[in-house]
Amino acid sequence: MKFNTKTIHGGQEHDPAYGSVMPPIYQTSTYAQTTPGGHKGYEYSRSHNPTRNALENAFASIENGTYGLAFGSGLAAIDAVLKLLKSGDEVISTNDLYGGSYRLFTSIYKKFGIKFHFIGMQEASNIEAYINKNTKLIWIETPTNPMMNIIDIKACANIAKKHDLLLAVDNTFATPYLQQPLDLEADIVMHSATKYLGGHSDVIMGALIVKDKELANKLYFIQNASGAICGPQDCFLVLRGIKTLHVRMQRHCENGKTVAEYLSNHPKVEKVFWPGLESHPNHQIAKAQMKGFGGMISFTTKGNNYEEAIKIVEKLKIFTLAESLGGVESLAGHPASMTHASIPKEEREKTGVLDSLIRLSVGIEDVDDLIADLKQAIN
Ligand SMILES: *Cc1c(COP(=O)(O)O)cnc(C)c1O
Repeated sequence: MKFNTKTIHGGQEHDPAYGSVMPPIYQTSTYAQTTPGGHKGYEYSRSHNPTRNALENAFASIENGTYGLAFGSGLAAIDAVLKLLKSGDEVISTNDLYGGSYRLFTSIYKKFGIKFHFIGMQEASNIEAYINKNTKLIWIETPTNPMMNIIDIKACANIAKKHDLLLAVDNTFATPYLQQPLDLEADIVMHSATKYLGGHSDVIMGALIVKDKELANKLYFIQNASGAICGPQDCFLVLRGIKTLHVRMQRHCENGKTVAEYLSNHPKVEKVFWPGLESHPNHQIAKAQMKGFGGMISFTTKGNNYEEAIKIVEKLKIFTLAESLGGVESLAGHPASMTHASIPKEEREKTGVLDSLIRLSVGIEDVDDLIADLKQAIN
């Protein structure tokens, strides 16, 4: 089955009771048993729920995995992966990481004795120097947030295999429409399904997808033991979202390209960070590993003026000033005062998060309206 069919049919069956085409929202905590242990595969909804299972099968299908797990948020999914580790273990991750992942690693797991290395990974070979006998996990994100750096997934997977480490890829920005990390031999794919998979800015959810049965069992055990599941209504919404993932992503890519090119030619714009531009430092890897370049774009303005950047994001009318990304509507953010405000200026500027940096999640509106909006806000 091809990807554009998998988003709609992958792992799905019509409901056996009445043939309903979409799975019913099984809003139940528990299931009747005829005799102790005599049930139809469902005992208690923390462990299993038919609506959640339908979604988990869709997750597995679109990422070319075997097992999918749905969590109450993206961070709950990351948390479950970290629980595979024990005190003394080490993790190697990127220095341009989603802020929430960084906070989880450093504020929660560090105190349980897990050590983290945050390094530049645009040259995957940099990873080798940080590997020792305690290293267990490589955690990457590509494209990164907000600088849109690209990391070579296959090269990381080769290093992970060589040293018997797990490689986990946060695939939130790219989605399986653009890249499928399990095909590049990553072990775990993670999503904030809140973003493109849900696609409509109406739900918080996370996902993990793996191929290996033993790893799936471990993660399932952690999920059931820790309880970070999502409710059946939310599962229904994300399942519905996934059915249009391919058409939405196609438009996100088209609009992203038009906006990136417009900004590149704007006299007030200093730099545009979008992996589809030939000027992007990792354009070649992006071209090799991604099917398209998505709708996430960052840019800086000439003079690097903090107040001017704030003015631009305030003036935008169709782009909503908001956290988050990946919905049908366009959003804009100012990392220096929003997502990265807690990082000292010197530290954030080292990774490229300048005062004038603006991040756009280009939606699927008519691109002429988006360009006109940017034009009036920047001028
Ligand atoms: C939003 C996001 C997360 C966290 O997901 P939540 O659903 O908000 O918990 C993790 N990684 C990336 C890249 C994200 O954008």
